[in-house]
Amino acid sequence: MKPALLVIDMLEVFVRGRLRAEGAEEIIPVIARLREAFHSKKLPVVYTNDAHYPFDFEVRHWGPHAIRGSDEARVVKELEPGKDDFVVLKRRYDAFFATDLDLLLRELGVDTVVLTGVATDICVLHTAAGAFFRGYRVIVVEDGVAGVTRESHRWALDYMRRVYGAEVRKSDEVLSLLEKL
Ligand code: ZN
Repeated sequence: MKPALLVIDMLEVFVRGRLRAEGAEEIIPVIARLREAFHSKKLPVVYTNDAHYPFDFEVRHWGPHAIRGSDEARVVKELEPGKDDFVVLKRRYDAFFATDLDLLLRELGVDTVVLTGVATDICVLHTAAGAFFRGYRVIVVEDGVAGVTRESHRWALDYMRRVYGAEVRKSDEVLSLLEKL
């Protein structure tokens, strides 16, 4: 197994801003710990960040948010990407859609994605679908993702487990998986 850590949409707007996910700040230290473990194993960390143009189709539905280059489109400072981390900018929920994420992961030899970030029931869910469609093993970090609400978070975890065969695991379990690599 060669996993990559995906840090999905940990941007100001979705963590502390207008469109914040419920409990999003609580997952910051969890993601930071996982990121450290991936770094120490020399495994890739990939940020997938909403970065919209004002005319994006999705913006018609949600209104302007995470417009590229704006303050609210920044990764929260606690999780700022390091120089060896990858950043993929996206314009849809699914981080695979119309981005080079799949090419990047394949060229890195990645076969497993470990999903963290927000929102469990929107971008995490759709990115899990994108990964499943392309044949990646999907691990969702239960305490490393947050949903629009706690209820929709739980619903989405269950959906990903049932429909995409995603493994929903606690961060401690993921850390001990990494230890064995
Ligand atoms: Zn968006």
